[in-house]
Amino acid sequence: MPCKLAAGNWKMNGLRADLEELRALIAAQPEPDCGVLICPPATLLAPMAAIADGSRLLLGGQDCHTGQSGAHTGDISAAMLADAGARHVILGHSERRADHGESSDLVAAKARAAHDAGLTAIICVGETEAERDAGRTLDVVLGQLRDSTPKAATAANTVIAYEPVWAIGTGRTPTLAQIAEVHDALRAAVPDAEISLLYGGSVKPGNAADIFALANVDGALVGGASLKAADFSAIIAAL
Ligand code: 13P
Repeated sequence: MPCKLAAGNWKMNGLRADLEELRALIAAQPEPDCGVLICPPATLLAPMAAIADGSRLLLGGQDCHTGQSGAHTGDISAAMLADAGARHVILGHSERRADHGESSDLVAAKARAAHDAGLTAIICVGETEAERDAGRTLDVVLGQLRDSTPKAATAANTVIAYEPVWAIGTGRTPTLAQIAEVHDALRAAVPDAEISLLYGGSVKPGNAADIFALANVDGALVGGASLKAADFSAIIAAL
């Protein structure tokens, strides 16, 4: 049974004034029963690492380059994330697939770079509303999983996050049966059966416990509700 994980994706949110939320989260959850991870913008990684020092809170990046260093203006490498205190990195988020045209092949190359730097890759997959309406959900999600996940991925270096694009930031969530259908299919398809499977998309204190109770849901990747310590702490408590 993989260890449960509550992961917060701050996306392009967070200034130094918001470090107070991290302090409040650590104070509210000093001994969580599950893994607790915050993925802030890269500018906040080092100050968050200083605050989290000595606590059980984990930190992660939101993207990395396929190389570890070089002439790539504006990019950040997995080695740099690790050096700043990250243990994880989110890869292939639908916002990066959409905003930056990231393909699954590119995501797989980034995941290999993350593994080489000692980071756990959180690889995101998920269908659009049009793909769901066309009955293509499992085709899309399993295709993204196959093409975005390095063949050598294990539970020690990889987590998969199922995030239906239409549920992200919309307040709409799939039914529990719809989440279970996708997670059961992912469990059967991952290269290592122990790989943790997170659900993401409008997870809130009010729906977290029901989602976490599903057999093949090992935690959550939370956007908006991870920005406030009180909300994220309630989600952690539901795990
Ligand atoms: P919301 O929780 O804001 O819907 O975002 C989910 C997400 O994209 C996490 O990566």
